[in-house]
Amino acid sequence: MAVFIPLSQLTASSAHLAEALVRPLTDAEERDWKRRGLCAQTDPDSFFPEKGGSTREAKRICSGCEVRAECLVFAMDNDERFGIWGGLSERERRRLRRGELGATA
Ligand code: SF4
Repeated sequence: MAVFIPLSQLTASSAHLAEALVRPLTDAEERDWKRRGLCAQTDPDSFFPEKGGSTREAKRICSGCEVRAECLVFAMDNDERFGIWGGLSERERRRLRRGELGATA
């Protein structure tokens, strides 16, 4: 899937994310990013908080994750409805899909 990101919102860090959003992942890339995600080394419960629970810790971890772009693409392509993926909540992913949120949120 492709997500429109206004040029004015592109930064050096978002350029990598934008490239990943418009280019389909290969099978090998899809297998590899899941192994490299920082969440694989942490408490998975923080990525799936109860309704109204804090997403702060999961988002903090995602912000330092080297496969954030790949993770977000996977969640968008698979219409993941729950949890934090690529540093975004389900609500933020819906806003991104509608073009209401820059990819660097
Ligand atoms: S971006 Fe966040 S949810 Fe995705 S793999 Fe990295 S730590 Fe896990």
